[in-house]
Amino acid sequence: MPDDDEVIDAEIVDNPPKPCPKCGSHNIDIVKKPAVLLVMVVAVYGAALAVEQLAAGALIIALMLVGYYVMPPFQCRDCGFRFD
Ligand SMILES: [Zn+2]
Repeated sequence: MPDDDEVIDAEIVDNPPKPCPKCGSHNIDIVKKPAVLLVMVVAVYGAALAVEQLAAGALIIALMLVGYYVMPPFQCRDCGFRFD
């Protein structure tokens, strides 16, 4: 029964085609990217090391992680509205 496996795979969708709740546009950008967060964390850590301000760097990284966690993952390309 190989058909059952294909049905399960089809349910895993990375890009839910949700329209913008503000203007109804389907031109939606995914703004939550783990790779971008990782690059920013490394950049802040490197800068903190360079100026020997590791405590301040750790605080900034903590704020970035919290901000990333609460940030809506989708943004409308037409009106800029963010939603999840
Ligand atoms: Zn919109």
